[in-house]
Amino acid sequence: MNAAHPVDPAIEIHDLRVALSGVPILRGVDLSVAPGEWVTIIGPNGAGKSTLLRAIGGLVAFTGQIRLHGVPLGRLSRRERARLVATVPQNPEIPPGMAVLDYALLGRTPYIRTLGRESAADIEIVERVLDRLDLLPFAGRPLETLSGGERQRAFLARALAQGVRPGPADGPEHRQILLLDEPTSALDIGHQQDVLDLVDELRGTERLTVVSTMHDLSIAGEYADRLVLLAHGQGVAAGTPDEVLTEETLGAHYGARVRVTRGEHGPLVIPVRTSTRR
Ligand code: ADP
Ligand code: MG
Repeated sequence: MNAAHPVDPAIEIHDLRVALSGVPILRGVDLSVAPGEWVTIIGPNGAGKSTLLRAIGGLVAFTGQIRLHGVPLGRLSRRERARLVATVPQNPEIPPGMAVLDYALLGRTPYIRTLGRESAADIEIVERVLDRLDLLPFAGRPLETLSGGERQRAFLARALAQGVRPGPADGPEHRQILLLDEPTSALDIGHQQDVLDLVDELRGTERLTVVSTMHDLSIAGEYADRLVLLAHGQGVAAGTPDEVLTEETLGAHYGARVRVTRGEHGPLVIPVRTSTRR
């Protein structure tokens, strides 16, 4: 977190273990994510992907090491952590009746003193973020009246608003870490593309580091710099999309029969029908 260590990974995880209700869920995960990188966690249902994101976000107890920009997670106060890491969960809670602007303002909570109110600067920051995501026309609309794609953008707005520090622009070592748990699962193919293109663009303009989970493997490989395949709470493959998305690896860990072909931007994973009846 200080300029003396410009090369610290944004996220560094060593031997991460999480147990829930006494059941081991993450069983020794290692992961290093460079500032500005986009890493996507793939893996079958129940592999521990959401739990991994929750651990990085400081939302679940763990053993092992998690460092954010060189600082152990446990040494960051809740506020400091929230300014550094923003999570968009798979199904964020939607406070009934809450307008988009007020929802995005919740992202400013780590900057507002206890029992304090948001400042004009907070509102300005949020309006800028809404503008950035083409959400200004929706600012007064209750969240539940938005379409899936618009709502996903509102979730992103709240997360982005969380990372904007008051005062002069941050150095590159202060990049915000954005954790996205299946950001596109509820969206049609066009809106999936919109959201992922937007995240990719914001990664550059807002200097974000992105860790996401995703089920669509072709799309995962198209956007991420690196993929990590999680199975039964352990990392079983990691590398470029070409290295991870192979017929053998996917067959072994998903129990799926797939064909992998080469697309314009990387491997394309196509499920192969195994039943023969028509
Ligand atoms: P993924 O996101 O990869 O589908 P999750 O991280 O959500 O997987 O869950 C991993 C495993 O942890 C699953 O088997 C799930 O049932 C289990 N799990 C999640 N929450 C709890 C809990 N509170 N108590 C016990 N097991 C849990
Ligand atoms: Mg999950």
